[in-house]
Amino acid sequence: MIDSLDKQFKEACEFGLKLNQKSEEAITAPLHKPFSDETGRVLEVKCPACDAVYAVEFSRIYRTPRSFEGLRDQLQLRLEEDHSRNRKHRLVIHPCAGTMRPAKAGE
Ligand SMILES: [Zn+2]
Repeated sequence: MIDSLDKQFKEACEFGLKLNQKSEEAITAPLHKPFSDETGRVLEVKCPACDAVYAVEFSRIYRTPRSFEGLRDQLQLRLEEDHSRNRKHRLVIHPCAGTMRPAKAGE
């Protein structure tokens, strides 16, 4: 039987994982670890528009060539996008999934 819960995290991509999740719906990512500072404290990414706080997770196996700052900026763009589109934040957000496409200017 496939463990569907962590199936989606068995990939090399970095992602934002919501902190302070309600325990009954909590998602964990055992194959990833969050960016942290030199004391081991997890670096937090705050949504610019609400109280949501995310950690930036990367693969324990593949590591990441990206910087925390770059991923944080992309994640915050995604979070702002949720607000401007009136969407609820998801527990897991892939800042690098696809490219940010500007809205089509009447085609
Ligand atoms: Zn928000």
